Amino acid sequence: MKTILENGVGVVNIREDIAGVVESLRPEMVKFLVDLCSIPAVNPSFGGEGEYRRATWLANFLEEHDLPVQIMEVDDQSVPEGKRLNLVSRLRGSGEQGTLWIAAHMDTVAAGDMNTWETDPFSPVVRDGRIYGRGVEDNGQAIACMVYSLITLKRLGLQPKKDLGLLFVSDEEAGSTYGLKFLAEEGLFKPEDEALVPDAGCADGSFIEVAEKSILWCRFTVVGKETHASRPHCGINAGWVGSLFAVELIETMRRKYRDRDDLFDPPFSTFELTQKFANVSSPNVVPGKDVFTVDFRILPSWKLDAVVSDIDQLVTKYEYEHQVEINYDFPQRVDAPLPTSPESAVVKNLSDSLKQRGLSPKIGGIGGGTCAAILREMGIPAVVWSTLDELAHQPNEYAIIDNLVEDTKTFIALSLA
Ligand SMILES: [Zn+2]
Repeated sequence: MKTILENGVGVVNIREDIAGVVESLRPEMVKFLVDLCSIPAVNPSFGGEGEYRRATWLANFLEEHDLPVQIMEVDDQSVPEGKRLNLVSRLRGSGEQGTLWIAAHMDTVAAGDMNTWETDPFSPVVRDGRIYGRGVEDNGQAIACMVYSLITLKRLGLQPKKDLGLLFVSDEEAGSTYGLKFLAEEGLFKPEDEALVPDAGCADGSFIEVAEKSILWCRFTVVGKETHASRPHCGINAGWVGSLFAVELIETMRRKYRDRDDLFDPPFSTFELTQKFANVSSPNVVPGKDVFTVDFRILPSWKLDAVVSDIDQLVTKYEYEHQVEINYDFPQRVDAPLPTSPESAVVKNLSDSLKQRGLSPKIGGIGGGTCAAILREMGIPAVVWSTLDELAHQPNEYAIIDNLVEDTKTFIALSLA
């Protein structure tokens, strides 16, 4: 195995060698992504048969190319084969402690309304420098980049610094129970590891996501007593009390949770009155019921339990003062883990790799919802990054072939950093 000189000519030569090999693999990468996404892998929770066939194809591909592959299976009676597959492909590092994991998911969402597609979503089409099809961007592009990073490293006899662990996982689109969460329970991850999750990003590849806000959708049902509007004293106006409650709740929350974190845009927690459900059908009826939802996005420095306890206090106050009953439930609750530090090695190394690409990296947080949270929960520094137009789950989803090539080079640079 070659070693890399710390500075000077050696590094430049190796960078050129890598670029040369990856560029020469461009047609193969396109064919790989077309073949991969020709095998439907719609998650069973979207009415599909899951990713088993795609996983088997990928495992065979890795074996045929003399790349290591370990299959980790887990029982699931909701798919025809009765099990879900996860693939792990590892390359030994040159001795630095821990593993750099790169994780991409094999499953996809359904195609949706077929009339909105210009091509067959399950027969990928190459056109104008792009590949069109369901799952080509989310998350096929990353799978192709990972596989061809490994092929390039092996072809050039290069050894990553840490061990490199490529994870091709199941079930991301339905919460990762049979995918990343299963692998975590199997004890795959160690505290000294770090991770890249190339499953979101921006069009020029400059955004590195290190944090997310907690999400809480809280649906309130205020129950009063319906009556005629000319005799309000005979009822309890749930609409009026609900409005007062919503205003006081949101004002209280904005006062208490007003700290800033400039990782995020906007840099504070947000509380928005969103859905309001229909009540009475006539203008002269005092509503006996008022139903509405508030969307909370809370900075990860706060625990959602604290927010819920504040909600509870205000509910009790309103029930006491206004003789109503207020019930609430959470159509969605996601507790965000603590952010990955912008100072962690994986963030610095990725930033450096992006600077080599001529980009100015921006490090920040998002409003919530990637599987990097599972890794951060275990204390593993994890970044979400890739170069894409964010077409996940949309009709006419595409992957840009130039992004396949450039992101492959970045994966390799990161593994060598
Ligand atoms: Zn995805």
